[in-house]
Amino acid sequence: MVVDQDRCCGSGMCASVAPDIFDQSPRDGVVQLLVSQVDAGSLPRVEEALRLCPVAAIELARPVSVPPR
Ligand code: SF4
Repeated sequence: MVVDQDRCCGSGMCASVAPDIFDQSPRDGVVQLLVSQVDAGSLPRVEEALRLCPVAAIELARPVSVPPR
């Protein structure tokens, strides 16, 4: 998962739905990631944060499965 701190407007929606994963800078409110990877149990809340973010600053990279040749 990555967040675009330049795009973030500090709305705080992500930190409100997943405070163990997202935090905000006390200086300017810009999002800060608390984890580098998302476990399966947290995925629904991260997807909710992604949906609620007003500026689409959260990107969830999904593993891509490639079929064997
Ligand atoms: S929901 Fe989006 S705009 Fe709001 S703090 Fe989180 S990343 Fe920033």
